Amino acid sequence: MRLGAIYMKINELFESKKVVFSFEIFPPKATSSIDTIYSTLEELKDLKPDYISVTYGAGGSLTKNKTTELSSIVKNKYGVESVAHLTCINSTKEEINIILDDLKFNGIENILALRGDVPEGGNHKGDFKYAYELISHIKKRGDFNILGACYPEGHVKGRDLKEDMLHLKIKEESGASQFISQLFFDNNHFYNLLEEKEKLGIKSPIQAGIMPVVNKKQIERITSLCGVNMPKKFIKIMERYEYDKEALRDAGIAYAVEQIVDLISSGVDGIHLYSMNNAYVARKINNSISSIINSINK
Ligand code: FAD
Repeated sequence: MRLGAIYMKINELFESKKVVFSFEIFPPKATSSIDTIYSTLEELKDLKPDYISVTYGAGGSLTKNKTTELSSIVKNKYGVESVAHLTCINSTKEEINIILDDLKFNGIENILALRGDVPEGGNHKGDFKYAYELISHIKKRGDFNILGACYPEGHVKGRDLKEDMLHLKIKEESGASQFISQLFFDNNHFYNLLEEKEKLGIKSPIQAGIMPVVNKKQIERITSLCGVNMPKKFIKIMERYEYDKEALRDAGIAYAVEQIVDLISSGVDGIHLYSMNNAYVARKINNSISSIINSINK
């Protein structure tokens, strides 16, 4: 069912804009109603992001079946282009096909195709071992625009950035035409990744993934799971304001804004803000950088 929203494959955005700006959200817990996200979406929509992406069972959560529903709401109710994340590590081709049909039925044209984390112990069932296999399966199956993930510090289970980037090239050759990076707190990691990209002749645009810190424990858990380093400057901020929620949030926003201004001024293709469903933080960051983005996109 198409409800009159805009319909766009977001690769077209990268052709028309110098800097693409997007948010990432996650579906409410399986036990909560999808309605709990409406007030967040109402606020995010007003910030006019280029698109909003919706995670798929991230962190082993049981929210997979809400990704299509929420991606459809973003697009068809709020009129913001959406990107549905999709992981494949424990899925058969038949299971993936059902989801692809559902996405298509809901008018979703953009998929962030991921492997997903291999479960503890390394055992997994399913027809896919790596994201590039999912990418080429989606490419063969339907008219979707496909994005992939990349890792400025290398994937946590990979050998190093150089090897990881060879695999990124395979993802591009398999049909991904834009990439979103893992979060990072030192822009030099992202610039190293761009150098490797250049050397390998990878043409697809890469958006830099930025996560503002609002909670010390949460960010420590995420960085240790993802193998992301925290620079001294960043650790100092977290330790200084650990017990003052508001101060930590504001320092986190300022840190993210500083990263983004440097990235945009250095000519990156886009910024993907891991908004963590926090519309206040997204708005503050958006307000601080919108004139910069508008100036570049003029
Ligand atoms: P791959 O590209 O398959 O890479 C995984 C590892 O395998 C890497 O070490 C890579 O170097 C290696 N590799 C790749 N190809 C080959 C090959 N041909 N031969 C040998 N080795 C290879 N997870 C969720 O569960 N839900 C989400 O919604 C979600 N969203 C994400 C969004 C972003 C922007 C990012 C960066 C990550 C997200 N993740 C999400 C996490 C992601 O699922 C994990 O990082 C996962 O471990 C790897 O996924 P991938 O798609 O990068 O896998």
